[in-house]
Parts: sequence; structure tokens; C-alpha cells
Amino acid sequence: MSNPFSADGVWLKSALHTHTKRSDGDLDPDAHVRHHEWMGFDVCAITDHWTLTREPSTERMLVIQGAELAADPLGPGRYTEILAIGIEDIPEDPGGDRSEWRPIDNYYFKTFPDLTAAGANIAAQGGVSFVAHPYWSGLPLEVLLAAEHIEGIELFNSSAERENGRGDSSYMWDLTLEAGKGFFGFATDDCHYPGFDIGGAWTMVRAAERTEAAFMDALRSGMTYASAGPEILGVQMDGAAVEVRCSPARSVVLMSRYETGWAVRADHRNREEDAQILERDGAGLILRARFTPPMELAYRRLVIEDATGNKAWTNAL
Ligand SMILES: [Zn+2]
Repeated sequence: MSNPFSADGVWLKSALHTHTKRSDGDLDPDAHVRHHEWMGFDVCAITDHWTLTREPSTERMLVIQGAELAADPLGPGRYTEILAIGIEDIPEDPGGDRSEWRPIDNYYFKTFPDLTAAGANIAAQGGVSFVAHPYWSGLPLEVLLAAEHIEGIELFNSSAERENGRGDSSYMWDLTLEAGKGFFGFATDDCHYPGFDIGGAWTMVRAAERTEAAFMDALRSGMTYASAGPEILGVQMDGAAVEVRCSPARSVVLMSRYETGWAVRADHRNREEDAQILERDGAGLILRARFTPPMELAYRRLVIEDATGNKAWTNAL
């Protein structure tokens, strides 16, 4: 797997799941883009429900056209949603169960039969897709394992976290990685209301340059990491060993399949042989850590947690 931390290019702070007045958001599209500019974003994908919102890029902000789409429900009220980034078109007839389709506020809710059909449609348009808030939606693992033509899952959704504490889908992500599914993990704010839910989480995208084509290429190939706060400054790999540099962290964890994985904590005695803190800041927080697993791992990914409990997540390395 390629390492975004060793690739040439620029880091683009990206909002990949956002709603405007064109669906159930609170801001007009131009104000929505301006708010994200003020929050320091470089890229804003507008993903109104079943609506393509066209809004021009600005000098500072790359605006990407997208939508939040859905597949037939798994049971009463159990909808499976999917983010479509960089699409040109929403099909008139996505092929799902028409008895589920209905007008909601100012958009018309429709469904694909399943996530694979949605992913195939999005991929055929050159788009990138990921499954929205699996934990919040209560998705069974089988639904994720069966999903084809999809780049990843929404590993963290800060609005869902704020709403009911089900924003972090890490456990489901690990189960898909253990099963050999190479999903990338994306973090979003799923914002609707300025001053309430903009900027709680984002995805850092390592693009060759600041253009839509380079951004889409990087997104498609997982040249990203997800964050709700911490910054990951560098990741180096040397065989099974992994070294990471980050903004001050109270813990750094190398995740892998069940019953493996290693953690270092700033305030705790660590298992020196497998995991080491190489550098701390004045407050004792971790700035650099190194893991030397004694065996080949099926997959490995890093989780950084700062002093306030906010996390950042790499993709599988
Ligand atoms: Zn949404």
C-alpha cells in the first residue's frame, strides 16, 4: 500500500460530507463554502441528499460536486447511506424499491438496490464512494463485506458522535480489514448548521497538486488520513517496524487484527521491547514513537489520541 506521508505533493484539508440549503443544511452553497474557508479547509465536497449542488471553486477552496445517496433499507427505517464524491449525475431511476422513495423537504429520496449498485454507478462516473456512518446506521458487518466498487467507510462522523455517541466506526473498519477488505477510512463533520457542527472532523488528502483531478486520484488511492484533531507529521516503515511523528499525543496505537497490536501511552509504563516513545514535548506528551512488531501483521494502522481525547487515524499501512 502506498504511503501518503512519503509522497510528493500538498496536504489538502478536506470536508467530504456536507449539506447546504439544497437539502437539509442551513446555509446557501456560497456561504457554506465561505464558512469552510474560514475553518481552514482546502477542499469542500458538497454532498446534499439526492441533489447535485453546483458551486464554483474559489481562489482558496476547491469545491467538489457530490451527493449523499442511499440503498434499500435493511428493515423498517434502517437506511444504508453512501457518499458519492466527484460525480456528474444522479440517475433518475437508481433501481431500488420504489415503495421506499418519497419527497423529503426539498429533495426526493430514492434508493439503489444495494451498496454495490450504488458504488458501481458512482465509479462509472469517475467518482469515489464511501459508506456513511456505519455505526450510527447500525449496519451489520455482512452489508459492508458484500459492498463492491466502494473505496471505503466513514470511519468517524463528528455529527453522529455529537448526536448520540455512535460516530466512531473503527471496530467495524477493523472487522472489514481482518476480512481482507481494503477499505480506506474517511473522517467527516457531516455538517448541516454553522456554529454547531462544522469542522469537527476532516480528511487530509495528499494530492500531487491542488487540482480536482489530483485530489480525486489521491482520494481513490487512499493517499489520506482521517482526523478529529491531531496532526500526523510523518510515518516511516522499515519491514515490520513503523515510526510515527505527530502533534502532541497522550497515546499512539499500532492497531492490527484481534489479539495483536501495540500501544504507547504518555502517562504509562510501556512494553519497551515492542513499542517505544522516542520523543516527548515539555508536557511529556508523545511526539515520536516506534513500533517493532515481532511478526508480520495482516494489516496495521495507527491511531493518535491527543490530550483532549480527539483522534487521528491512518489507513492500513
Ligand atoms: Zn449526511
